[in-house]
Amino acid sequence: MTQQKTAFITGITGQDGSFLADLLLDKGYHVVGLARRSTNYDYPNIRHLIGRVTLEYGDLIDSDCLNNLIARYQPDEVYNIAAQSVPADSWNQPIVTAEVTALGTLRMLEAARRHKPDARFYQATSREIFGGVEQEVCDENTPFFANNPYGIAKQYAHQMMMNYRDSYGMFACGGILFNHESERRSLHFVTRKVTMAAACIKLGVEHPPLNEIGEALVQQGRVKIGNLDAVRDWGYAREYVEAMWLMLQHDKPQDYVIATNTIYTVRDLCRAAFDCVGLNWEDHVVSDERFMRPTEIAASRGDYSRAKAELGWQPRTSFKALVELMVEADLRLLSAR
Ligand code: NAP
Repeated sequence: MTQQKTAFITGITGQDGSFLADLLLDKGYHVVGLARRSTNYDYPNIRHLIGRVTLEYGDLIDSDCLNNLIARYQPDEVYNIAAQSVPADSWNQPIVTAEVTALGTLRMLEAARRHKPDARFYQATSREIFGGVEQEVCDENTPFFANNPYGIAKQYAHQMMMNYRDSYGMFACGGILFNHESERRSLHFVTRKVTMAAACIKLGVEHPPLNEIGEALVQQGRVKIGNLDAVRDWGYAREYVEAMWLMLQHDKPQDYVIATNTIYTVRDLCRAAFDCVGLNWEDHVVSDERFMRPTEIAASRGDYSRAKAELGWQPRTSFKALVELMVEADLRLLSAR
């Protein structure tokens, strides 16, 4: 009988961490998840997993806690998914972003190096490390050109992970993931804001959820968002966590771009979401300066050829299907309230 593997996931309460936990449980892993102590203990993304995963309270700013947990659980695989993950917030919270997203990764690498150096280590890198690079298509050889505090913190974390791989021979991989979304995406991101707003407006919801600055998401039948011309390469998060696992099963630790190699604008997103509920997006979406980024990233798409060739990974869900599944999930969620 093969021995059950243990995986340690930071950020298990988030979108990716929760999907990854689903995947690893299906594969028979013992999953240990790091969750921040919360005042309301309401973890919507992992409510269905309570009792099936081991939850440990802790924080990426606390190296003692991370050292103790890695020493205690001796995980075969470590997935460092946690971060201050919202690029737009990183201008207002540059210190927290550096502390958690950059130094938090270093603390996790150190904990693994000291207490379980043969653990396979996944680092949640972001396409934001390419920032303003003027390349239509980015791959693993594209130079780093981060242009916001979040991207710069992720670049530090990624390069530190590479350094631990080179210096100590650790099996460490960086997944350079382009944007990926789902019904578990937080309302701090434009995709979920738009799908939730379309669902609220369609159903005539009286008390919509709050947006990232604490205002009602929908006011007078309208949702306020930032730059309609912003361009992203959007995929489905449930598929992207499969790539994380595949990276750690490969015989060689490497970095991989995970993307769809297609791009759409925020305007396309609005059109697709409001089409799903039979409404004209132009009647319901307003661009508001307050949600604009001070610097925008380049309109690049991701070339996932290496992941396809070496891991057998490729995206399966189209942009239209992704938006539809998110709107449908929001309609169900609001109807059940
Ligand atoms: P998410 O839903 O915002 O999840 C972030 C997770 O990090 C949450 O579980 C959060 O806990 C946790 N966290 C935040 N600060 C922490 C701290 N100080 N200590 C411990 N945990 C902390 O993000 P996601 O979309 O799943 O993204 C997962 C990772 O991939 C992140 O590192 C993100 O930066 C990166 N990434 C995401 C994308 C994307 O498009 N989704 C693309 C590229 C890279 P709480 O629930 O307590 O807040």
